Amino acid sequence: MTDVLEARTNSGIVAAYRERTPESARLAAEARHLFPSGIVHDARHMDPYGIYVQRAQGPYKWDVDGNRYIDYFGGHGALILGHQHPLVTAAIVEAQAEGTHFGACHPREVQWARAIQALVPSAERVRFHSSGTEAALMALRLARAFTGKQTVLRFAGHFHGWHDHMTHGYSNHFDGTATVGVLPGVAEKAILLPPGDIEAVEAVLARNDDIAAVILEPTGASFGKVPLRPEFIRALRRATERAGVLLIFDEVVTGFRVSKGGAQVAFDVRPDLSSFAKIVAGGLPGAAVAGRKDILDRLDFAETAARGQEKISHPGTYNGNPVSAAAGTAALTEIFENDPTPIASARAASLRETLNEVFAQERVAWAAYGTYSGFHLYLHASGREFDPYAVGMERLKASPGALGNKLRLALLVHGVDISGSLSGFISVTHGEQDIADTAEAFRGAIRMMRAEGEVGPS
Ligand code: PMP
Repeated sequence: MTDVLEARTNSGIVAAYRERTPESARLAAEARHLFPSGIVHDARHMDPYGIYVQRAQGPYKWDVDGNRYIDYFGGHGALILGHQHPLVTAAIVEAQAEGTHFGACHPREVQWARAIQALVPSAERVRFHSSGTEAALMALRLARAFTGKQTVLRFAGHFHGWHDHMTHGYSNHFDGTATVGVLPGVAEKAILLPPGDIEAVEAVLARNDDIAAVILEPTGASFGKVPLRPEFIRALRRATERAGVLLIFDEVVTGFRVSKGGAQVAFDVRPDLSSFAKIVAGGLPGAAVAGRKDILDRLDFAETAARGQEKISHPGTYNGNPVSAAAGTAALTEIFENDPTPIASARAASLRETLNEVFAQERVAWAAYGTYSGFHLYLHASGREFDPYAVGMERLKASPGALGNKLRLALLVHGVDISGSLSGFISVTHGEQDIADTAEAFRGAIRMMRAEGEVGPS
């Protein structure tokens, strides 16, 4: 995104944003001399600058200027229990008081894996990592080692972290070519297919006998921004089973959110391997690969030695870190005992419905859609009932550009923070009043945008 708005000094929205956020502006100016673009995660790229947050609690966060926001970033999806759930916070405090790294096995890693197993029946074995990127990378490596095959199938628009194997085709390079800095040969071995097209999958499986695995986000790219039907997932399971190809669910977002056992329990489909991050570590850095014992045995000293196989090596300074383990165990235990997923999903459905009412009342051709505890906005809907399946992946995933940026600024001015892709996560702490307040924030934002000619006349 170019700094379009920086140059546009006559925007009332930008002026109002700047007026409310002088300390964020100061920090952003300093950060520009420290980080590329002044940020540490691409999702924080905003024009003229993003907010700097001081603290967060429940569904809210407060910036360094003291403004409160209803937070729909939700720790990039990690916080289905909201910010600072008391049990998670207590577990973190207790664990860190005992030490942050032992360079040894510890009881909390055992409890953490047990908590995953209690929720995810396919998790016969577990290995911890520090991020979803690492977990997906390990899942792919396991699949290739286990099958002795090199190629993996994936779906255009689906995100599986930023490691070399999967950088093409989630937001660009939909032609399958490698992104800058990645070896073409690596990208070539991850074949992109159109999402939701079982015939395309079956055709490749029939003609290519070098497929190790199929990997996907089971509710569709970016938590259903480009949705997939559960029937497709079931058909995919049947097709992969027939072909002797492994099925990998990337449950980094869907895990413990779509249902307490993730998408696999909700859809009653058993993947061979799954990657988890975000909720699995209760809001701290942490991730896991879980799945069939015979596959994870490729990481096992004795099992590989007994079969004369080369073991996959797996170091990682922070694998199973005790503080992350404590946070993860506390979050997963709370999810096990008091399943928050139906409540968060119902609140999200209510938010989507309320937003669509506001869009209709304010006469903007926008749509709020999504599944489970998420929402996505599409700013180019036609008058009819919005159907994301009819729109197509590239348009749904297209950057919302300057219009989206301005909507975000206008929402921040009204005390609501949504993601740069105009999506959000709902936690169990978002109440009905927050939803009503969010709807009014949207109404105010739309009116500000209309005053600047960014949306058509009412
Ligand atoms: N897979 C999916 C589906 C994700 O949404 C993400 C992160 N947004 C990742 C993998 C990568 O996880 P991480 O950011 O922890 O590396």
